[in-house]
Amino acid sequence: MQLSRFSIGTGDRFGLEGEAQIAAFEELRAQGGEADIVWNKSNREHLIIGSSPADQAARAAAAIQRTGWDGPWFVDADHISLKTVDWFLPHCNFFTIDVAETIGKKVSAAARAAYLEHARFLLDEGAAPVAVSQADIETVADKFLAAVQEAGTTYRYIAAKKPKDSFVVELSMDETDVPQTPAQVASILVAVAAEEIPLATFAPRFPGKFLKGIDYVGDVAAFLGAFEAETKIVLWAVDRLGLPRGFKLSVHTGSDKFRLYRGIHEIVARLGAGVHLKTAGTTWLEEIVGLAEAGGDGLALAKRVYQAAYARIDELVAPYANVVEIDKARLPRPEEVAAWDSATFVQALRHEPGSSTMQPDMRQLMHVGFKIVAEMGREFSDAVLKHRGSVARNVQRNLYERHLRPLILG
Ligand SMILES: [Zn+2]
Repeated sequence: MQLSRFSIGTGDRFGLEGEAQIAAFEELRAQGGEADIVWNKSNREHLIIGSSPADQAARAAAAIQRTGWDGPWFVDADHISLKTVDWFLPHCNFFTIDVAETIGKKVSAAARAAYLEHARFLLDEGAAPVAVSQADIETVADKFLAAVQEAGTTYRYIAAKKPKDSFVVELSMDETDVPQTPAQVASILVAVAAEEIPLATFAPRFPGKFLKGIDYVGDVAAFLGAFEAETKIVLWAVDRLGLPRGFKLSVHTGSDKFRLYRGIHEIVARLGAGVHLKTAGTTWLEEIVGLAEAGGDGLALAKRVYQAAYARIDELVAPYANVVEIDKARLPRPEEVAAWDSATFVQALRHEPGSSTMQPDMRQLMHVGFKIVAEMGREFSDAVLKHRGSVARNVQRNLYERHLRPLILG
């Protein structure tokens, strides 16, 4: 089982937007583009919301049935490890193996020596699409080899419990303190091939900052340079290391990275490669935008969510501390927001490319504020149903216009 050339992680925190998300993929198809739909949800999100992988899969299947969507679709156990994977197993056909906890751990001297011996061919000129040094393979042996071995153990655990060819595997190393270099990525993939993990996609840590709900922070040229070098490496890994055909890079925290999409498109088009883009929380922000745009009780609920999030900022940010950067002093005061009309609230929260009215601190706080809504229970889902038209229009437009179109159609 493999992914198509383009695949998009479309988180749906409360499981209410499957049909609106599928409508975005239908719009893409009408314009001549195709992408797999991947409903991703992490263990952390399930625990905060009080949902389960069974709910996630049932919501996805119901949306597929109601719309009659006939393209490939997946349910992703996002950022799982051996400790958390069990409850996902019966319900998911995409597993994102996260080995962050094992990065930097030591392997046995024998395993280290075997890897260094095995990876030595990389040092020959032209062996890989990037120059690799002895220091690179030693860094990988010391920093990432244990993590790849842990990924192999996790993959084999999943494979023993799932029918053959019934799922795809992603390996994520995006939550590290420093980016991997292209030479390190090549050296990591040698270890992946030795573990015989049939990866569909690999998420390295790229240069720059990928913060929740806002645009890429950093040097676009540096990102695109790394993305191009590493795309060449994954193509090489298919040809030379025997990784599965269609193997590709994955970009995490990929929503709202408007400065990058056309560059990514140009690179994958030129190289004949693919990409997986993982977005998660943006859909729930569009639910809030849609409620605010509806005005009346919808706007009132959106303001209440902001006010509660403002009061509980430290608690909400804690699980996401390394992926948001909120300047508290720049957050609008709740009493100020209370006086806003619908248009003012929408302009502050909605993220259009190059928007001058969007407030990045408020948007990031709302992004991590879904716990507030989870505590509201039926009140929130009832409001989303009541204002279905406004919410669905915002969800679809955000996914198609701002994400799928520039990334896939260019
Ligand atoms: Zn990630």
